[in-house]
Amino acid sequence: MTPPLATTLPGGWLRSICPYCGTGCGLRIRAHNGVVTQVEGDPDHPVNQGKLCAKGALLAPTLVTEDRLLFPQLRDRATGNTRRVSWDAAMDRVATAINKAIRDHGPDSIMLYAFPSSWTLNGVSTHANDVLSTLDREFVAGAKMYPKSQPGLPAATTLTIGPGRVEANIGKPGEEDLFRFKVADPGAYVIDTVGPTDVYLKLFGPNNPTALIDEDDDSGLGLNPRIATQLMPGEYFAQVRHYDRTSGTGRYSIGVRKR
Ligand code: SF4
Repeated sequence: MTPPLATTLPGGWLRSICPYCGTGCGLRIRAHNGVVTQVEGDPDHPVNQGKLCAKGALLAPTLVTEDRLLFPQLRDRATGNTRRVSWDAAMDRVATAINKAIRDHGPDSIMLYAFPSSWTLNGVSTHANDVLSTLDREFVAGAKMYPKSQPGLPAATTLTIGPGRVEANIGKPGEEDLFRFKVADPGAYVIDTVGPTDVYLKLFGPNNPTALIDEDDDSGLGLNPRIATQLMPGEYFAQVRHYDRTSGTGRYSIGVRKR
């Protein structure tokens, strides 16, 4: 049986659960003057029996960093600015987004971060959606983001930050176009497409072509995507595909500018 949360143990330890993933490893926590000073794996917890992965083992130092988020913040897509919101508002926002994903792409478009029994020391596991959804599989199989035979980063068209735009074309169904641009000055940037084609935009980075920052479908003009977000210096990657992967093709232009 899983021990209850926040039970006081001998030696001033509190008992809790690692929040980072669905495995739910048990923790022992010590605090001084309200500040967490020590986190260890709980040897009595049936799932991990005292062991922690690197994320759980480093919980204590990450809890006391100056820039740690202490409450939910909501980003305004138009300005890139964030504002504090209540937990209820944050949960509503997440629930709305999940419901929209289910409505637009079906129940297979979401998944619980499940863990198999081989990850735990006593055979505990979760079983819901423990395989990648169709959308995840399509993303992972994306020819340009994850080439199977080509090492390194695939060819990407360079975008220049400013008013100029690059003309592009989804020439065949399922095609993905990849663009890259470099940010030297931190600040708010807008990446968008223009044209008659219903395309979908994903933004990755900095300096990592698979770290998703944001994605958008129709926030721009007509059926065009538009991402407005704060970017730090580094290289970014914009991936464009047709909304309709099975039959969509057409022309569009893409640009990136500082706000
Ligand atoms: S596996 Fe790591 S991240 Fe997941 S609950 Fe355990 S310690 Fe936390």
